[in-house]
Amino acid sequence: MDKLTYINGDTRKRLLALVAAVITVLSLVAIGLQARGSGSSLLDEIRASGKLHVYTREGVTTYSLGPHGPEGLEYELLERFARHLGVELEIETTSDLQEILDGVAEGRVHLAAAGLTITEARQRKVRFTPPYQYITEQLVYRRGTNRRPADLLSAASNGHLEVLAHSAHAELLAQRKADNPGLSWDEVEGVDTLELLNLVAEEIIDYTIVDSNELTLHRRFYPHLGVAFDVTRPRPLAWAFAHGPDDSLYQEATRFFRELEESGQLALIVKGFYSHVRTYDYAGTHTFIGHVKRRLPRYRPMLERAAAKYDLDWRLLAAVAYQESHWNPHAVSPTGVRGFMMLTQATAAQLGVTRRTDPQQSIEGGARYLRSLIDKIPGHINEADRIWLALAAYNVGYGHLQDARVITRWRNGDPDSWQSIKENLPLLRKRKWYRKTRHGYARGNEPVRYVENIRSYYDILSWYLANDPAERQNRPVFAIASPVL
Ligand code: GLU
Repeated sequence: MDKLTYINGDTRKRLLALVAAVITVLSLVAIGLQARGSGSSLLDEIRASGKLHVYTREGVTTYSLGPHGPEGLEYELLERFARHLGVELEIETTSDLQEILDGVAEGRVHLAAAGLTITEARQRKVRFTPPYQYITEQLVYRRGTNRRPADLLSAASNGHLEVLAHSAHAELLAQRKADNPGLSWDEVEGVDTLELLNLVAEEIIDYTIVDSNELTLHRRFYPHLGVAFDVTRPRPLAWAFAHGPDDSLYQEATRFFRELEESGQLALIVKGFYSHVRTYDYAGTHTFIGHVKRRLPRYRPMLERAAAKYDLDWRLLAAVAYQESHWNPHAVSPTGVRGFMMLTQATAAQLGVTRRTDPQQSIEGGARYLRSLIDKIPGHINEADRIWLALAAYNVGYGHLQDARVITRWRNGDPDSWQSIKENLPLLRKRKWYRKTRHGYARGNEPVRYVENIRSYYDILSWYLANDPAERQNRPVFAIASPVL
């Protein structure tokens, strides 16, 4: 029998209320202690556990696995913040912006660094640090289609506009619809910016809206894409944290960004991250030929020597070097690759390259590295395919290339043929495929573009040399393993 049955109804209710009140007070005290008590703020807990859990999106501006390890602007900032706290990063990724914001608001992760635009609606859900970058939102169309719209309304009435679900772009369109009831668009889940741009490039949809920073990095792969107009004035990107009484981590991040900004470093990091686009830009034939005439002669003897030593076609080595650095021995990318053949510090060290900006050393190291990759590709594959596969591995990493070969086999393609693998490499960006692979997500479209560019450079260079009268009194060419093009 329940003890309370001895107590009359009113007293019982009062007693229950009292017990409930005591429990509430005790739990509030406990939470308060946990939040503010000595040595137990969220920041202290993170320091004690040694781990910072973050959410990000996979993408070229945020976080991706490059041939030389993780990269991306958000990743770089996160790394610095983790170092500042003296902890390790635990990164979780999703392309679902809703999941990211909910994850932060509900405390499943400590913060989100995902190229998030600060919007009013989002501010009700999470709190943002001071901005680290400003972007504009741009309406993208395919040039040459005569469909360049002048404003959102004409875009919506002339064609099909698609944006990422739960994005700042979707929020903005919803706001604009209040004044323009005719505005219509579709929101897609589970894709990334690159996929949307791809849809426009392939004329599957007519328009999309993306952030200017993402477009800057992706556009070099899609020369046909154009910006119709800026949809917004510059808008801020920032990291998101949960609201709540314990703001210790949020305050620390705010301090971190203020210091980074005041020291001028933030501007350098952001600028450095986008400046390499120019270096890597696919040059037109005209520019390339200009460089063949003016830059190449100085490096040609070095390229010929290294190619002969490692049993390569020097024109192929020249084409790789052009794709890497435009034959600039002082080229540098924000991810730390450097020099004529753009070697990482680690690869350079392995290859015995002591000065990466020395073109002789860089070429020798790059040739040796390329030879080692070609030798790593299974010997039953024909020589030309082995070269293209090795170059893809040079760009995306050997593990990711192997994953693409496995996917090719799953899809009944030929895992020994570059033509077949190149159809499947871009699938490494799609969750449906990369989750089943050994090495996970990779920007699989980039090695395709990389190898195809090199093939174009090789073609143009060979064509130029064959037609240049000066070549008739040829010096010896050490072409041994000439690729079949
Ligand atoms: N900045 C966008 C947002 O916060 C995401 C990036 C993009 O979709 O390009 O929704």
